[in-house]
Amino acid sequence: MALELYKKKRNFKETPEPEGTPKSSKSKLEFVVQRHKASSLHYDFRLEMDGVLKSWAVPKGPSLNPKDKRLAMMVEDHPYDYKDFAGIIPSGYGAGIVEVWDHGTYADLENSEMKTAEKNLRSGLHAGSLKFTLFGKKLKGEFALVKLKGKQDNARPNDSSGGAWLLIKHNDEYATSEDYNSEDDTPQNSPINKWLAENKPEKLSKPSTVKKKAS
Ligand code: MN
Repeated sequence: MALELYKKKRNFKETPEPEGTPKSSKSKLEFVVQRHKASSLHYDFRLEMDGVLKSWAVPKGPSLNPKDKRLAMMVEDHPYDYKDFAGIIPSGYGAGIVEVWDHGTYADLENSEMKTAEKNLRSGLHAGSLKFTLFGKKLKGEFALVKLKGKQDNARPNDSSGGAWLLIKHNDEYATSEDYNSEDDTPQNSPINKWLAENKPEKLSKPSTVKKKAS
């Protein structure tokens, strides 16, 4: 998919989002989870692979409880630089405000060196069963993204992109058996929460200035 669809959906004269070119980390693959208040609040889960960020929108956010199967809708690849993006998206596709909720490195389950990990992860993605270990601040340990079978699979049997997936925590030392809500793991004074307290939602459609860097 590369970045064509990402670029097609955006006017970079109007959005502060990075235009970006394919780029890779030096020694470890990276992941980011962005919290995004658009028409609804959701989380964007992104894994670096082959120079871009493979991306899923997770309406309920990730969970550390293995019993939760969180719907994750695969969306277009985002540029590598998007992992550092936080701020206001003034209008058009995905308009709203974005903050970085969690980030870190990630690898295949064997914690292979980067090129081997990338190869294993790519195979998993294409097979619709992607297993990986996250080394984040909030999200740690093993997870899986499992693709749900859908109508489009019949139309495009060799295309694993898009569609509905489930994000599931594996049972390991970082898993919890308690109810988990990613909102409870979000500081009350996070950039989005502060912004929402100070601004009326209709202002989301207008350009605004907000500190670009999430804490
Ligand atoms: Mn989003």
